[in-house]
Amino acid sequence: MKVYIDGQFYDKKDARISVFDHGLLYGDGVFEGIRIYNGKAFKLAEHIERLYQSAKAILLEIPLGKEEMEKTILNAVATNNKNSGYIRLIVTRGEGSLGIDPATCKKATVIIIVGDIQLYPEQCYENGISIVIAASRRIPSDCIDTRVKSLNYLNNIMAKMEAKQAGCLEAVMLNKEGFVTECTADNIFVVRNGALLTPASFHGALHGITMQLVKDIAATIGIRTNETTLTSYDLYNAEECYMTGTGAEIMPVVKINGRVIGDGKPGPITKELIIRFRELVMSQ
Ligand code: PMP
Repeated sequence: MKVYIDGQFYDKKDARISVFDHGLLYGDGVFEGIRIYNGKAFKLAEHIERLYQSAKAILLEIPLGKEEMEKTILNAVATNNKNSGYIRLIVTRGEGSLGIDPATCKKATVIIIVGDIQLYPEQCYENGISIVIAASRRIPSDCIDTRVKSLNYLNNIMAKMEAKQAGCLEAVMLNKEGFVTECTADNIFVVRNGALLTPASFHGALHGITMQLVKDIAATIGIRTNETTLTSYDLYNAEECYMTGTGAEIMPVVKINGRVIGDGKPGPITKELIIRFRELVMSQ
């Protein structure tokens, strides 16, 4: 594995950054996770766009232009000769002093890791998974806008641990008002009256690239999507439920806090979306 750091490739064991990097000291930075299917970085332009928007929102200047970033990522994929895998693209505030003042960081650090993806077993897609509603709440959007994909994932990590403690693979997080936001690293959808419903990003969700793709696929088969307000009651009484994300793709959810969703099996709309999603990904 060759890891890109600030213009150079390093072997995995030599890929190191400073302990004074504010990404490490304060979680001061942004990132993206991108899939490689058939040797191609999937939805690369969308991921680059979101990275630059996240960076702009936190006043972080990325030392490469978007086009150069794209070329650099493609070069990292080619250098690692990956046909199927995962790209972790990270931009931190860079090396600075021990104080939080970002003015001490003279240049952002850009890291590109091209590795493997840890996939859910296929049986999860066939049977669906059980999830819980975490006690840990999503960071409110009026503290840090949750559309910023920042290096601060501590509350998501706490929720993930709650899921594991409950014997589940995932947890859904509520915002401080008690409305549904998203899972720890995936968006969440329910099906109601044949339409797709997903929490509006102002409730505290990342604007997922997979979520957008699923909305687009649904539109092509005449299924409406509403970005709306959902409570735990809406989850429990959904006809179908699934999560979307770069890693999980479309994962059916069949039980939430012990409540069986629909008939306890992945629903027909979810199954249809999975088939169409896989066709689309493989045809790229
Ligand atoms: N929410 C959070 C908190 C995430 O980290 C992610 C990315 N894994 C998602 C949702 C899904 O976004 P995407 O479809 O762009 O991967």
